[in-house]
Amino acid sequence: MITAFFNSPIKRKLMIIMLLTSGVVIFVTAAAFIVNETLTFRREIRNEMLTLAAIVSNNTSAAIMFNDQKAALETLSGLSSDPRILAVHIVNNDGAVFAEYIYRVAEGARGQSGARDFGKPSVPYKIALAEADSEAGSFWNWPMRLTVAEKIIVDGREIGKVVIQANLEGLIEKLKRFFFLAAFVMLVVSLLAYMMSTKLQSLISVPIMNLAQTMKDVSQKKNYSIRSEKTSNDEIGVLIDGFNEMLQEIEERDETLKQRQDHLQRLAHFDSLTSLPNRALYCDRLSQTLLKAVREKQQVAVLFVDLDHFKDINDTLGHRTGDLLLKDVAVRLQKIIRASDTVARMGGDEFTIFQQDVKDSRNAGLVAKKIVESLSQPYLVEGREIFITASVGITMFPDDGATVDELLRNADTAMYHAKDSGKDMFKFFTQEMNVSVHNRLTLQNSLRRALERDEFILYYQPKMDIASRQVTSVEALLRWLHPQEGMILPGRFIPQAEETGLIIPIGEWVLRTACQQIKEWQAKGHPSIRVAVNVSASQFKRQNFAETVTGILEETGISPLFLELELTESAIMQNIDSSVEILNSLKAMGIQISIDDFGTGYSSLSYLRRFPIDYIKIDRSFIVNFTSNSDDRAIVTAIIAMARSLGLKIIAEGVETEEQLAILSELGCHEMQGYLYSKPLPPSLLFKFLRVNSPPGG
Ligand code: C2E
Ligand code: CA
Ligand code: CA
Repeated sequence: MITAFFNSPIKRKLMIIMLLTSGVVIFVTAAAFIVNETLTFRREIRNEMLTLAAIVSNNTSAAIMFNDQKAALETLSGLSSDPRILAVHIVNNDGAVFAEYIYRVAEGARGQSGARDFGKPSVPYKIALAEADSEAGSFWNWPMRLTVAEKIIVDGREIGKVVIQANLEGLIEKLKRFFFLAAFVMLVVSLLAYMMSTKLQSLISVPIMNLAQTMKDVSQKKNYSIRSEKTSNDEIGVLIDGFNEMLQEIEERDETLKQRQDHLQRLAHFDSLTSLPNRALYCDRLSQTLLKAVREKQQVAVLFVDLDHFKDINDTLGHRTGDLLLKDVAVRLQKIIRASDTVARMGGDEFTIFQQDVKDSRNAGLVAKKIVESLSQPYLVEGREIFITASVGITMFPDDGATVDELLRNADTAMYHAKDSGKDMFKFFTQEMNVSVHNRLTLQNSLRRALERDEFILYYQPKMDIASRQVTSVEALLRWLHPQEGMILPGRFIPQAEETGLIIPIGEWVLRTACQQIKEWQAKGHPSIRVAVNVSASQFKRQNFAETVTGILEETGISPLFLELELTESAIMQNIDSSVEILNSLKAMGIQISIDDFGTGYSSLSYLRRFPIDYIKIDRSFIVNFTSNSDDRAIVTAIIAMARSLGLKIIAEGVETEEQLAILSELGCHEMQGYLYSKPLPPSLLFKFLRVNSPPGG
């Protein structure tokens, strides 16, 4: 019953509470009223009976004194008209009844309404007297009876007592009426309370029910933007405020959670630098696309894009610039492809693209061409103009490969071929390329053993003073005499040697061999011929590079004056302070320093002032077209002018024509190196060349 109450809805609870409260109030009021009524009624009757007893006492005192029972009875008979009186006893001092009047119910009237019948209406006078004396149980005496006793006194002497028993039937009648009235009032009040409660409880229960409904909605729909409407400023209002605040908080938390999830999602699927899809997302999309392509018999093109010499930019201009450049590249790539195609960053400077539903592989070729052209346009990064090119490899599904892995591998292979063929171009994958990939791997393995097997030799290419047309020095150029493949040029194996770290022992071998060669030529009659040795960046970066050089000079007994080192800009720009230190120590010994491939890097000439440099070698790429290309001409002109103003010597490499030489001479270039004068030659042939072209004793 109690649990049923607690489990019932608030609406019912409120109603029950209101009904109970009003019921209890009415009940208590009625009870208090009854008690009060009863007491008042009794007091009044008692007073009346006492007065009556006094009158009877007066009127019967003479009768007692004269023992006139008849007169006494006569007096008493006058009382029969009072319906309240049950009995009147007149008792003398001996305790004997002198005269009494006792009401008796007429036989026929018994049980009739209005009859004064309470079963035993009166009691014998002794009991009544005792009751009157003690007043005991006067309130709860039942059947209701009130007893009073009055002494009969004559001349100050008690001669007897008058005892009156009165019934309280009037009270019962009164209380009965009152009880019915109270019941009626209770009914009306309950009805009113019920009617009011249904109205009033809604003031409390409706907002709570609304709140509960909102809660249900929120938890079912998981929509935290719903709010409960506030209708009052009471506790329920506070509750609604609190609830809404909670929702607000949940909504905000939900939002940040969603943002974090999105962020994680992005991290997992997108490249953080360029915002392009990453490898994982690319592969996923490509595999979906391949499934669709199989169903719909379509072709898919996969393109692999790799920037040329990107590492140099990172090394010389810093990673920040490199990153900004990559962002630009990403933007350009996105502009070229269709919305249905995907471009992704695989990492580093590698990007991959796939094109869906390619009707003809030539279309993929057109896109690759656009990419190569677009990426070679100058970039403006932090106010600096940067030039870079890209190599692109293309492979077609389903002709070249069936799986994502296979296609990516093919595109990568094709891209490497584009690089090998001179960079800044695209190549379609062919099955033959796989053979050359295989070759590359075997090449790497045999490169490891080439030193032990003594398969390397040095060729030498003379450098000539333009004014005097005399040899100034020779550049040592590495050649690999492969037992099966014949002579391999450094372009094909130096990158691998650098990757594998083999460049360190190979470089040492070159330096030692070049020094031994100087010694041999000096012994054979060319005492002052200088040899220039190429030093790769990783070699130069090694901690003990200067010691290695001095060690080899001492070992071979060659004066540092006959040694020249060719370093690229990127090699010395990587760690400027230590580079300056190493170069200073080499320079102090008398070794000549040249900056190789100048113009392809990004350092400015004035920056090179910090380094103790003797020569600037203008890169071959500027010389090739500079007679016809005005841009290249302008660059060469500027380099020569600035280098001269800094007191540096300038040498142009890759000079192949007289026209080139004439212009270089006019511009004030000091020296040249190139096929026009001589190709790189094996030592014996170079020795003969020196004999003809060097000054006597030089
Ligand atoms: P490099 O230092 O720029 O060497 C000059 C390259 O230009 C040589 O290529 C040379 O044969 C070529 N060359 C010279 N004159 C002409 C010309 O008139 N026309 C054309 N088309 N080319 C000309 P090579 O011997 O194939 O060497 C390529 C690169 O390999 C060198 O570029 C150099 O960076 C590297 N290398 C060569 N030997 C060594 C070495 O011993 N150690 C290191 N670390 N690198 C080396
Ligand atoms: Ca060189
Ligand atoms: Ca060069």
